[in-house]
Amino acid sequence: MSGTAKKAPRQPVTLLDFVDEFLVVCPRCALCAVVRPSSGEHPPRLTCTGCGLVREWESRRKGILTSADPSRWPVGQYAVGGAADAYFHEPLWLATPCLGETLWATNARHLAFLRQYVEATDRRAPERADTEPRNSTLASRLPRWLKLAKNRAAVLAAIATLEAKLGAGGRSPPRYENPRSDGGPSLSSGGARPRS
Ligand SMILES: [Zn+2]
Repeated sequence: MSGTAKKAPRQPVTLLDFVDEFLVVCPRCALCAVVRPSSGEHPPRLTCTGCGLVREWESRRKGILTSADPSRWPVGQYAVGGAADAYFHEPLWLATPCLGETLWATNARHLAFLRQYVEATDRRAPERADTEPRNSTLASRLPRWLKLAKNRAAVLAAIATLEAKLGAGGRSPPRYENPRSDGGPSLSSGGARPRS
């Protein structure tokens, strides 16, 4: 290590960058299940490879509710901001007590983002587009207890606990990637065109 200060992620990141996948506690077998948004073919659904449970979600209220207390999220309301998935409101797999609060992450990428952020000693605001309100960035909305330098060791220990849970859930190790830059796998069309 060179001793230079680690930098916090610079691109604007919001919680909505991490809602393409929620790891949750399966309501049937208590192993790690996955909740994903609608794919075009089917509505948002919860699937568990442990017990085979599949549940589909039905919207009953419009809009996005932002609230830190999932116990108050109405059924059928898309909601974010607490330790549960946005659709079924099942408890997140990646949640652990920390300093009297709950540290949570929706998925491996979110957890990797939190580690990068909390490890960073340089937390200048990320560059942003003029059209993007500053408060929409995830870093600006992270709770104060998570940002305080004096809490860093405790928060990193909680992050390590969650990383271990991630391994126990049979998931691949966390990587932080911006989903917007992911072009997805390219499908081969089959028969290669002969070169002339
Ligand atoms: Zn299950």
